[in-house]
Amino acid sequence: MKYISTRGGAQPQEFCDILLGGLAPDGGLYLPESYPQVADRLDEWRGLSYAELAFRILSLFISDIPAADLKAICDKTYTAQTYRWSRDPAKARDITPLTTLEPGFHLLELSNGPTLAFKDMAMQLMGNLFEYVLDQRGETINILGATSGDTGSAAEYAMRGKHNVRVFMLSPEGRMSAFQRAQMYSLQDANIFNIAVRGMFDDAQDIVKAVSNDAEFKARYKIGAVNSINWARVAAQIVYYFKGYFEATRSNDEKVAFCVPSGNFGNICAGHVARMMGLPISNLVLATNENNVLDEFFRSGIYRPRTTAETRVTSSPSMDISKASNFERFVFDLVGRDAAIVRELWREVDSGAGFNLAGGRFAARLPEFGIVSGSSSHADRLATIRDIWEGHGLMIDPHTADGVKVAREHPVQGLPMIILETAQAVKFAETLQEALGRDPLRPKELEGLESLPQRVELIDASVDAIKGIIVREC
Ligand SMILES: *Cc1c(COP(=O)(O)O)cnc(C)c1O
Repeated sequence: MKYISTRGGAQPQEFCDILLGGLAPDGGLYLPESYPQVADRLDEWRGLSYAELAFRILSLFISDIPAADLKAICDKTYTAQTYRWSRDPAKARDITPLTTLEPGFHLLELSNGPTLAFKDMAMQLMGNLFEYVLDQRGETINILGATSGDTGSAAEYAMRGKHNVRVFMLSPEGRMSAFQRAQMYSLQDANIFNIAVRGMFDDAQDIVKAVSNDAEFKARYKIGAVNSINWARVAAQIVYYFKGYFEATRSNDEKVAFCVPSGNFGNICAGHVARMMGLPISNLVLATNENNVLDEFFRSGIYRPRTTAETRVTSSPSMDISKASNFERFVFDLVGRDAAIVRELWREVDSGAGFNLAGGRFAARLPEFGIVSGSSSHADRLATIRDIWEGHGLMIDPHTADGVKVAREHPVQGLPMIILETAQAVKFAETLQEALGRDPLRPKELEGLESLPQRVELIDASVDAIKGIIVREC
């Protein structure tokens, strides 16, 4: 399988070559040349273990790692030990267990990995793929990122202790929850560097961009990224749509709907690809919070990225985005994979404007892709958390609550609805307190996490200060 750019200006590449890079050289995103068609393999795949299913699916997208090696990587990544924080520990073997709320209405638990958010599903695989490819090539990489919470911790837990990889993760001082801070800063691994920046998330993000735009520094210090535009993350996420489908149905003649709490369009992009591959998904329900740039597009055909100043800070912070970085992949398919059109549309986006497809031929094609959308407010999320606790005895986090709220508004007649559970409640204790008047339940092993010694360096929001740290440690 070769990979092409959504903007048409890059040579087709193999998987391992795009694994370590970010954007394509023309500024576009990589996608497979075509989507493998698997409708006739569902019978063979139903009943496979998660690791086995991951191997079958990823094999279709990765042709430059020998099968035995890829199999070993999948087996090592998707273990009951790593994904052990299920509500029902007996279900840990499933890796992504399904919890039925009401008949036909399910939660797919994706947040049972080390950092209790769905980003572990892909990031743990990335850690093992990076180690494998770097070992083979005798190379090293310095991952530089900025996080508002979930991405940074997932990256650190995936890369800790891996040879040939260092992680420099910037976080805005005092902006993450106490639990999120403790998760990251308590890591003592020699290859993990936590850097708190005096400022906001955007200040941290700007530093990362500035360092990455310094081509000489980037090449000299082998700076890499693991952000959500990375194709390998999308590929890894395709697997659980298949797993969830098999869990929620009895036969491959049935259709289902998925509801996906969305920010950068990474998670739901994987659902879109699964559907294009022939998984019987009737609809993908896209759920946003007050930052509803995507909801607006799917309702109106108008894509209007927000400015940072317009972006609201909400109780579902991992969805607080101004524009959706993976959305370009979907639009590439929407416009019939015509890179010239994508280039045109993103010339507008990159200039700070947006685009309007309303009334045109592409808006007319939108229904073919099965995406419907909705959004939630803070009050909606609190009410939903309360409702699921009182009605089902389950604690859900504010992002998942957003999904439940929007899913209830978009039932697809007679079909199972599978809501992706993107984080565990314990990560967002403040909001749980507000909703329920009590602290969220937490796994026993994580009691006292906040009182462990922390290792973090505090700096001013300056590009030179970050470069200085990288130079010092390399
Ligand atoms: C990252 C994240 C999201 C948003 O996922 P995207 O792939 O950016 O759409 C939703 N919920 C949680 C808990 C997250 O960490």
